[in-house]
Amino acid sequence: MIRAFWFLTVIALISLGGALVADNPGAVSLDWLGYHIDMSIGFMIFAVLILALLLATIFRIWSFFRKAPRRLGRVNRNWRRRRGYKALTQGMFAIAAGDAQEAKRQSKKAENLLAEPPLTMLLSAQAAQLSGDDKAASKFFEKMSERKETKYLGLHGKLNQAMQEGDQESALELAEQASDLNSKTDTVTRTLFELQIKGGNWIEAEETIRKLIKNKLVDVVTGRRRRAILIYQQGVEAENEGRLGDALQLVRKANNLAPGFVPAAVRAARLMQRAGKRRKAASVIEETWVKNPHPHLAEVMENLAPGAGGQEKTRALEKLANYNKDHVESHIAIGRAALASSMWLEAREHLEAAKRKYPGDIPSARICRYLAELEEAENQDVEASREWLKMAADGDPDSAWICSDCGNVVAEWEPVCERCENFDSFEWQVPPRVSRLTATSYASESDDPEQTTIDPEGKPIKNKNQNESDAGNASN
Ligand SMILES: [Zn+2]
Repeated sequence: MIRAFWFLTVIALISLGGALVADNPGAVSLDWLGYHIDMSIGFMIFAVLILALLLATIFRIWSFFRKAPRRLGRVNRNWRRRRGYKALTQGMFAIAAGDAQEAKRQSKKAENLLAEPPLTMLLSAQAAQLSGDDKAASKFFEKMSERKETKYLGLHGKLNQAMQEGDQESALELAEQASDLNSKTDTVTRTLFELQIKGGNWIEAEETIRKLIKNKLVDVVTGRRRRAILIYQQGVEAENEGRLGDALQLVRKANNLAPGFVPAAVRAARLMQRAGKRRKAASVIEETWVKNPHPHLAEVMENLAPGAGGQEKTRALEKLANYNKDHVESHIAIGRAALASSMWLEAREHLEAAKRKYPGDIPSARICRYLAELEEAENQDVEASREWLKMAADGDPDSAWICSDCGNVVAEWEPVCERCENFDSFEWQVPPRVSRLTATSYASESDDPEQTTIDPEGKPIKNKNQNESDAGNASN
């Protein structure tokens, strides 16, 4: 529309000019270099227009040839880029399909066609890795880690290689660098955490957990629990080094972070008792008993009793049991202490209550053993005692610290399972019957000294139920 308008305007102007010239004829006379030319004004205008057109055409032709090389270069570059990206894509497909040779071929092609090392280096490194050429791959990763835009990928590649080679020291260093560079990535920071745990670097591991919580890669509850364990381990080390003040402070902090975490409560109470803070120690045990009644807590409480006599111990446990009155463990704790100090009436009352409360058809082996002991000690009823011992063989085995990942059983809680190397995998639970046998052989083979540590009873049980009393000792 606009074009048509312009065209009509130009036509109108030309006709107007033509008419003007026709209406006002005139002549032009030119004297130049000895030539004399006479012409009409109309002819002169026509000649000037032709000359201008000629010059414009010549200029266009000249400029076309002048720009040709650049234009050709651009066409060539576009062609190379298109082919380069195609090679890159095909190379990635080949990596995904596990075709090492094709991946290598395409990566070389992409490298030649594309002048963009950040894009092609990763493909080249992966292709080299796929074809088993770790040396070449590590060269590419090295080069990548030197460039700002590919540094993270380079470090990541080098980290994976170090892990595969089992070079923990280098892996730890690389994971630290990569995590500092980009702490929001899940895998690298988790790898860093695992490496720190393996190396026993509890302080650094706690920092990493804080980072994971901050970046929402670990939920708050799990994060708190993990921090508690790591701080607890720092406390254990401090105690081993004789820094008892630091140890207590750290273990107390762990206890506050995870109030149901029994090892921290037990250690905190023992350290407080050593420092002469008996009442405070008792209150730590009481607070934990509310959340998680555990036989180890009862043992500590027994030692915290104001007097060494059996009655005082039983009273201390009665007081503790008040914090979680109806729990089976509360009844077992009182029953056991009363049994040890020949308070038959009280022992029977609480052991019977434990038997009733136990969630299962048959009371656990532990309850049966205590009842057997009571029958024999109170009434010298060997027959009834034997019946209870028979039942103990069918009851649930005693709870123990069992790795929830590999089934490993340990006498004392540990932060890392030695067998499967998982962190925080030990849970206090009833062992399944099959693994109970393996657990028993494990305990009796390796932990002889620990077999005699805990239960005050067991004399009549040892011959017949050796296995169970072993499992019980390992667990308590
Ligand atoms: Zn394990």
